[in-house]
Amino acid sequence: MTDTFQVQGDFASADAAISEVSLQDTIALADDAAVTAEPNGFIELGLAPELVQAVADLGYTQPTTVQLKAIPLAMGAGGENGRYIDLMVSSQTGSGKTAAFLLPVLHTLIGQMAEAEAEARAEYERAAAEAIARGEAPPKRAKRKDPTNQRNFKAATPGALILCPTRELAQQVAHDAIDLVKHTRGLRVANVVGGMPYQLQIAKLQNADLVVATPGRLLDLQRSMQIKLDKVQFLVVDEADRMLDLGFSDDLAEVNQLTSQRKQTMMFSATFAPRIQQLAMRVMHDGGSSVKKIQNDAPHEKHVNIKQVLYWADNAQHKRKMLDHWLRDTSINQAIVFASTQVECDGLAADLQQEGFSAVALHGALSQGLRNRRLMALRQGQVQILVATDVAARGIDVPTITHVFNYGLPMKAEDYTHRIGRTGRAGRDGLAITFAEFRDRRKIFDIEGHTHQQFKAEVVPGLEPVQRFPQPGSRPQGDFGGGRSGGGGGRKFGGGGGSGSRGGFGGGFGGDRERNFGGASGFNDRPRVQGRPDDRGGSFGGPREDRGFAPAAPRRDGEGYGRKPGFGDGGGRGGFADGPRGGAPRGDFAPRGEMAPRGDFAPRKPAFSKHAGGGAAGGKPSFAPHDARKRPARPAR
Ligand code: AMP
Repeated sequence: MTDTFQVQGDFASADAAISEVSLQDTIALADDAAVTAEPNGFIELGLAPELVQAVADLGYTQPTTVQLKAIPLAMGAGGENGRYIDLMVSSQTGSGKTAAFLLPVLHTLIGQMAEAEAEARAEYERAAAEAIARGEAPPKRAKRKDPTNQRNFKAATPGALILCPTRELAQQVAHDAIDLVKHTRGLRVANVVGGMPYQLQIAKLQNADLVVATPGRLLDLQRSMQIKLDKVQFLVVDEADRMLDLGFSDDLAEVNQLTSQRKQTMMFSATFAPRIQQLAMRVMHDGGSSVKKIQNDAPHEKHVNIKQVLYWADNAQHKRKMLDHWLRDTSINQAIVFASTQVECDGLAADLQQEGFSAVALHGALSQGLRNRRLMALRQGQVQILVATDVAARGIDVPTITHVFNYGLPMKAEDYTHRIGRTGRAGRDGLAITFAEFRDRRKIFDIEGHTHQQFKAEVVPGLEPVQRFPQPGSRPQGDFGGGRSGGGGGRKFGGGGGSGSRGGFGGGFGGDRERNFGGASGFNDRPRVQGRPDDRGGSFGGPREDRGFAPAAPRRDGEGYGRKPGFGDGGGRGGFADGPRGGAPRGDFAPRGEMAPRGDFAPRKPAFSKHAGGGAAGGKPSFAPHDARKRPARPAR
């Protein structure tokens, strides 16, 4: 039987639930005139004290709704005969879902470790007692071998594996796990992602109990016997909608087989389209017959804390002017500006730097070391504006991001949801601003269809569009939604696959999983954009975000575009050749503070003052250069 737990909201409703409890408590205690502290929800969940201490250090006072719902079930409370149950958790970005899967998995690993230690101790004491009884000296305790010494090499056999679609997300999750095991002795967390030097990764992998990985590099290491997956008990698939997509499905199927002995599978995602749910069930035990579903709010209820606004633009220059206007808004603390392609991303970042903005580009063609350093600079507040492709749409958790700009529209409607989820983190408010040209209108309608929300169109005074634009939500006449991707089953707007829809609107979303899965042609529907889409799976023949995107020249680390592991990839796989040279990535396993950014991003220039007196729009107050350095990167920590 498949159970569904309805979870209303996340942080807000968790607070509401908690305040209800507090109220009852207060009434009960009124006679005593005693005031007791609110019970710690993490203790009540029965988590190991080491973890309770770690979440307290992170500043988490109470579990979020998704944590309250998922943790008890994931810890095994819901299974028959103490069996672990498979979970499918739909929870929006920023709702605390990472801790919702990390905490129960770590809790169980800690318990198992303690049991194993107790058994070993008892075994030793028994042997020692027997030796003494025979009048012999007690046996010597086994010496701990240095796992980083080559002579002691043993393939890693983690008990838990977490798969993520992007390197950035995998690194973020690994960082979170490291934070959570801060008070746990002997539990090792390792991060396995492409673009990093093999040697270092292998060394760090030794004795790892929990591995957070992107699939490409994980399978490379598995094939070269650096890691064995037959001891994996818990498999977590984060951003499962992406992981079940075509770009990753082969890898996921392989990991599924390699970990077939596991006790539990958990899938987490902001969205689970029906087709994705079907695919997910294939990875679950017994074909998914006993999966428990935890469903957070529906797509249209999501992101209530993020104000979403649309600006219609006459053309690219008009769009650029409006962006310029907005970037001078004094309410911006930090922002992500999303571009459609790597070329657009680089160009825009360079332009913004020229104008004196503290901006850097982030996309899949950059070396992983550079990507890491730029992200760290953003986290540490040394960069104010990140211009990024969809490689940054998931996994970036920087609470000080106040604004997200969709300068280039996403390739897929659901990426819009992930993009805007970069702001409004951990219960804060955020602003998501989308610029669209008239020819993009079908994409806008697709986004509205996906989110079940109509955009509120606004204008920048002095920069009003000259053309007349459709009312948000109004449907174009005729064959809307068919287009080149036509025939896809389940499209919300028609889906008749009619001819001639290419005429007016410049194409909607190509290969939108949720809509096009049923229609084969959907996967080949390339949106007409200049340049190259970045790091995308699905529609573009399966490039994987964890493998970078370097179609022209195979990457030295052998993680180039579309490479199928094991099938004659160009170089780098033979030994443990390092990753991209010059990137010199550092500290992928280190706590955040150790990943010191290098000086490869433009320092904040005093050139902000250049704009004093108003920007392109005129009359706007000048951009107040904020001193982000004063801000902690993740205040909660
Ligand atoms: P996630 O949805 O896992 O990306 O988490 C979003 C943000 O919420 C991260 O910054 C977490 O550190 C934070 N967070 C997770 N759980 C809690 C909690 N119980 N209380 C406060 N913040 C949390």
